[in-house]
Amino acid sequence: MTGILIAEDEERISSFIEKGLKAAGFQATVVRTGPDALELARTGVFDLVVLDIGLPGLDGLEVMRRLRAEGAKTPVIILTARSAVEDVLASLEGGANDYMAKPFRFDELLARIRLRLNDASSAVETVLAAGDLELDLRGRRASVEGRTVDLSAREFALAEELLRHQGQVLSREQLLSRVWGFDFDPGSNVVDVYVGYLRQKFGAARIETVRGMGYRLV
Ligand code: CA
Repeated sequence: MTGILIAEDEERISSFIEKGLKAAGFQATVVRTGPDALELARTGVFDLVVLDIGLPGLDGLEVMRRLRAEGAKTPVIILTARSAVEDVLASLEGGANDYMAKPFRFDELLARIRLRLNDASSAVETVLAAGDLELDLRGRRASVEGRTVDLSAREFALAEELLRHQGQVLSREQLLSRVWGFDFDPGSNVVDVYVGYLRQKFGAARIETVRGMGYRLV
């Protein structure tokens, strides 16, 4: 379910948005202060944030600035007073995806929320890369140094898991449960076998064995 965080200290407005979003089939969570907004938004579990500028503790612009500084790409729609042109400019410069001037009709806000959610989902990565190793998730194609490498479905899934966590060590158990997805036999060497296949196809040095821990894509 799509989760929306509403950061708004005026009860009248937050409950109006919350009710409307729930009726439209979204999950809605309300916070009333800037620090709470920042704490929840940075968990990354929300698909979009509706952020009032005038929040106690930390204003909405500062909340957004910190989120963007941490690399959060969650779409943010700023709520602002109608007259505050400078707030609108600061919002957009600070990384807001859109703004709503108060007062507004709920359906206007809903239309903007849907639009921004669509933008975000179409911007989802379709190619994962580690140097000259690339996986095209839509076309289900892999390439190394520009040449196509044939992978089986399982090899592709394993490569995708390693690429999504490049530089991190993934244990055999993690790889088994994520790629094979069944209740595995911890004694199974299927992961090692498939890592061997990928090494043959990608080049042995690309997948490092971290003794006693697992594998890492370098
Ligand atoms: Ca306010």
